[in-house]
Amino acid sequence: MGVTDPTIDLVINHIDVILIPETNADGFGSLRTINHGAIACAGDEIVMIGTHDDVMAHVPECKVISAAGKLVAPGFVDAHTHPVFFGTREQEFKMRALGKSYQDIALAGGGIRSSVRKLRSASETELIDHTIPHLKNFLRHGTTTIEAKSGYGLSVADEIKILRVIKKLDSMQPLDLVPTFLGAHEIPDEYRNDRQKYIDLIINEMIPLVVDEKLAEFCDIFCEEHVFTIEETIKILGAAKDAGLQLKIHSEQLASSAATKIAAELGVISADHLDYASDDSLQQMKLRGVTPVLLPGAVFFLGLKTYANARKMIDLGLPVALATDFNPGSCMTESLPIIMTIACTQMKMTPEESWVAATLNGARAIDRDHRIGTLKEHYVADLVVWDIKNQDYLPYHFGINHVVMTIKKGQIVFQNKA
Ligand SMILES: [Zn+2]
Repeated sequence: MGVTDPTIDLVINHIDVILIPETNADGFGSLRTINHGAIACAGDEIVMIGTHDDVMAHVPECKVISAAGKLVAPGFVDAHTHPVFFGTREQEFKMRALGKSYQDIALAGGGIRSSVRKLRSASETELIDHTIPHLKNFLRHGTTTIEAKSGYGLSVADEIKILRVIKKLDSMQPLDLVPTFLGAHEIPDEYRNDRQKYIDLIINEMIPLVVDEKLAEFCDIFCEEHVFTIEETIKILGAAKDAGLQLKIHSEQLASSAATKIAAELGVISADHLDYASDDSLQQMKLRGVTPVLLPGAVFFLGLKTYANARKMIDLGLPVALATDFNPGSCMTESLPIIMTIACTQMKMTPEESWVAATLNGARAIDRDHRIGTLKEHYVADLVVWDIKNQDYLPYHFGINHVVMTIKKGQIVFQNKA
């Protein structure tokens, strides 16, 4: 019998399988497992993880959850979401079913610009009320941290409004939101004939305000034909970097370009989408330590055919992350398990790889892999109890929720009553 640790206040024991994502020499990462394990937490941290007998030797009288027959994994880290919007776009979804393309709909006044019009009409309180049910959906489906972008405001006041809403939401409910400024999501209608003026507004007014009020950690940009050019990307990300923000980019979603390479040279932490990424882009990401964040849910939801070449990226040792891209236009889901299924069926990732990509590598993409994304001592006690027997089962049995319980910072925040 070992010495008990009096700070332990929660134990999950009799766990059939514990999944532990780890970095490895290959660069992508792998999963270690413990059979018949237990995890002990103190406050918001994990303090002990191992076999059931080893851990239980140190456990005082405290709250104990039995996870017999269950699998426990770290909470998902969703590294790319656009959760603050006002009003949904199911009419566009129907138009696409009737044969219209995403670009047709955008040219007809739909797309991001329709979300901008709706968002500008909403107050902070209305946005908070609109967003909370979605944050609950993340927790229900096993996600404990999301990266959250602005980008439907596209004016100084409205972008700041979204980022303030993200900050408030982060403090008022259990899901962690990591804020990203995405003023460069689209050129708003009123600057269509003078895009330089909007770029100046981003650089001279929005970025300084975002930094002054500490409203974001990252600055992101949508670099694609008809959106922001490479030259504009260099200017905007350069200004954000000088102001002290970390960088991200939406690149090579619709066509190959030099955007990923340029962004890698600028020092982005992640490049996201990459459905058309060239071999040169992959090499540059490898060279500069950029995490690719793949969003196959958007390809699937838009009914497109070209998925990112995840296999090539993994073979090259890139730490591929999977994220939902949750947003009302091109991917209306908070569920990472669904994204893992799409990754396995359409990009030929293995189930094991999909777990690593949705946990540890997601944490890398938002600079949190020293605190979350895996299960070990002194990491945050963000974990999920799953009603599945092994890791392969989750992406395999898709479209229903296998979460038994979501634990965030050592507290039960969702329990499936079924
Ligand atoms: Zn996005």
